[in-house]
Amino acid sequence: MKYISTRGGIEPIRFKDAVMMGLATDGGLLLPESYPSFSRETIESWRSLSYQQLALKIIAPFADDIPLSDLESLINRSYSTFTDSEITPVVTVDGLHVLELFHGPTFAFKDVALQLLGNIFEYLLKERKEKMNIVGATSGDTGSAAIYGVRGKDNINIFILHPHGRTSAIQALQMTTVTDPNVFNIAVNATFDDCQNMVKQMFGDIDFKTKHSLGAVNSINWARVLAQVVYYFYAWLKVTDTSSKEIVFSVPTGNFGDIFAGYVAKRMGLPIKKLILATNENNILTRMVNSGDYSTGTVVPTISPSMDIQVASNFERYLFYLFNEDSTKLKNALAEFSATGKMNFTATEMEQVEKDFSSSSVNREETLATIAEFKKSHDYLLDPHTAVGVKAAMDSNLGNSDFICLATAHPAKFGDAVKDATGEEPLLPQGLSGLDLLESRCEIMDADYAAIRAFVEAKAI
Ligand SMILES: *Cc1c(COP(=O)(O)O)cnc(C)c1O
Repeated sequence: MKYISTRGGIEPIRFKDAVMMGLATDGGLLLPESYPSFSRETIESWRSLSYQQLALKIIAPFADDIPLSDLESLINRSYSTFTDSEITPVVTVDGLHVLELFHGPTFAFKDVALQLLGNIFEYLLKERKEKMNIVGATSGDTGSAAIYGVRGKDNINIFILHPHGRTSAIQALQMTTVTDPNVFNIAVNATFDDCQNMVKQMFGDIDFKTKHSLGAVNSINWARVLAQVVYYFYAWLKVTDTSSKEIVFSVPTGNFGDIFAGYVAKRMGLPIKKLILATNENNILTRMVNSGDYSTGTVVPTISPSMDIQVASNFERYLFYLFNEDSTKLKNALAEFSATGKMNFTATEMEQVEKDFSSSSVNREETLATIAEFKKSHDYLLDPHTAVGVKAAMDSNLGNSDFICLATAHPAKFGDAVKDATGEEPLLPQGLSGLDLLESRCEIMDADYAAIRAFVEAKAI
């Protein structure tokens, strides 16, 4: 399998190089040249497979430059850190299927992809006799999932900047209590945007980037999307008993990575009737799907903070297909968007969008009411991100479809919102409780780029 850039500016490369490249060198996003297509009979024959066995079936055709037995052991190792033997179990609450994606080490769905990416990085660095220094900024969730993805791994150091005192206490502890020698937490006396800007500046410092082999873990890495395709198949197999059954998936969306994985699953033959793109008050993608209005606003903080994004970086992957794989057209549209803050679509394109997605934007009151209702009527706790997806599914006019709602975080991770909704703080699961008693390690620094760069330089592998 070869990979190309959405912007058409690179020679096709294979999986291993695509993973190491991350963002395409022409500024675009990497995509496979084609998709394997699985017949209904083939999918049907997978009903008895474990999550790991299914992952191997789905990932192998995309990663055909890694020997199958190596890939198998990478997958097995990646999911051995999950506490549920099903990895991503489906529970049914009053007829609605909830796909629980939060049984990994940091209690959010990003573990599904980042556990695998960490192991693939380690495998490829060893093979290439190279080292990597991962540098990233986080407002909470991604940082801890990335740290858990690479803690203790050979030839990788990780530096994560977070805004000091501005993440939730649990989120900060999840990161700073990882004391493996290759993990460096930097709490910056500044905002998340300041942290992110300093990381961008470091990646823009080409000499520094090359000298220290800086690597990124943001959601544009193709391997992350690929890992997420697996659970769409897994959940579909769990809730259907015949191959003709079409399912609607509802996906709380921020950077469009998770829902794009669903789109890929559909292209590969999984019977998906529709993907519901659920947003919070940051609803540019909902406006786009419902009325073709793709125009930026400013990010507003919400109770589902991991979805507080205006311009979703993975959306470019979908646009590439919407524009019939025409990179020139895509580049022109992106240039128009960056000049005017808007992008326009033809009637034919909007027809296609309507076939792929339906969408709604769910506000704070609706989110809290949904959490409260599920607790009261079904004694099931939703986290605020998951509640956005559940509410969007309930509001959709897709008739008597079967719905699978993706549960992207454990409710205890967002205890304040859950308490606002239900009056009770959720019980902390093992792994989140007692974090404050553990040893922790963190560098507190001012927003001084030169000082932070010097710190990374001193500790780089
Ligand atoms: C990252 C995240 C999302 C959004 O996922 P995208 O792939 O960015 O669309 C939703 N919920 C939670 C809990 C997250 O951490």
